[in-house]
Amino acid sequence: MLSVPGLCWLCRMPLTLGHWGICSACTRAACRHVPLCPQCGLPAAHPTLPCGRCLRKPPPWQRLITVNDYAPPLSSLIHQFKFAQQSEIALALSRLMLLAVLQAQRQAGFSLPDRLVGVPLWQRRHWRRGFNQSDLLCRPLARWLNCAWNSQSVTRVRPTATQHHLSARLRKRNLKNAFRLELPVKGLHMGIVDDVVTTGSTVAEIAQLLLRNGAATVQVWCLCRTL
Ligand SMILES: [Zn+2]
Ligand SMILES: [Zn+2]
Repeated sequence: MLSVPGLCWLCRMPLTLGHWGICSACTRAACRHVPLCPQCGLPAAHPTLPCGRCLRKPPPWQRLITVNDYAPPLSSLIHQFKFAQQSEIALALSRLMLLAVLQAQRQAGFSLPDRLVGVPLWQRRHWRRGFNQSDLLCRPLARWLNCAWNSQSVTRVRPTATQHHLSARLRKRNLKNAFRLELPVKGLHMGIVDDVVTTGSTVAEIAQLLLRNGAATVQVWCLCRTL
């Protein structure tokens, strides 16, 4: 798909507000409209109470906000964003995340994080790709929501194997001590921003790192939450 300024990334219709990248009809279609568990972000009976899974085994973070599950049209947009070097799609995706955050906040009335952190890439992967997708999502969100953000708050101290084919137990071991915190977070409400959260092992590892270092609460914001 070629980038044409002024056309919706999804339906190719002319945009009233060109800089948003996605028209209002596609925005509505891309966002999830079923109740999701506020803690794990998976479909649940009630949108404001933790689901049975979270009551039995809560994730280390307090709240997860997502735009939708990993399905078209959102998934194809994320695919282009990650692999086709079309980093300008980041703004359209960040806006979808902004809308999800504001909607969740209206529903549940929580306070926004003091500071956002992205999921860092191993340096070599960063060079090859030319950008880190979490950073591209964090930057506009931090500006719109008035949260602090620094791309170096959490760094990856060693490369990790690609997670896709690993079991949950191996994913956990693969990520152990893979990240380092570079800024004090004591007493702060933190938000971790990622594009796609599947098993949640990467964001769980970062959430635990933040909490071990005194963060007051941790939220996870992602474009897609899927199993
Ligand atoms: Zn559209
Ligand atoms: Zn849950």
